[in-house]
Amino acid sequence: MHLIPRWSMLGALIAFALTEYYFLVVLPMHNHHPSALPVALHFYLVLSWGALAAVSMLMMGYISNDAPRRGMSARLWMVCVVMPGGIGAVLYFLLRQPILTSCPSCGTRITGNYHFCPQCAYQVSASCGNCYRTTSITDLFCTHCGHDLASDHRPARLQAFPG
Ligand SMILES: [Zn+2]
Ligand SMILES: [Zn+2]
Repeated sequence: MHLIPRWSMLGALIAFALTEYYFLVVLPMHNHHPSALPVALHFYLVLSWGALAAVSMLMMGYISNDAPRRGMSARLWMVCVVMPGGIGAVLYFLLRQPILTSCPSCGTRITGNYHFCPQCAYQVSASCGNCYRTTSITDLFCTHCGHDLASDHRPARLQAFPG
């Protein structure tokens, strides 16, 4: 939720209100043939269109914050997400890249599953000295191969990482 900016929440409210206004006020004025649908179904459809418009606005806000930290184009994906049927939103979640962070030593963009920086070999996360898989800072032995992690001489600064 903290990734959804305030402008998109406001936009969602406005989009919902405008959609309701259009279907309940503007459309009946120009449409002199009463709807063939039962009132309840008609009302349900109008509400769903409003909700859809609101969700699109929220998605745009979310992507504007989420895409840059994954090294993806926010503008391109914000356009995709308003495509009909929510195809853009589904594609976004299928295709999105892992979150990027920076190497504390040289600033290279790295993903969360790296153990060492590819540019300067700075160790960015704890790993087993025997099988090289990710371990937790608090583990005494590797959960994959049982290796005694105390013998690895891991850098003390790794205690600062969540593991
Ligand atoms: Zn580095
Ligand atoms: Zn291991």
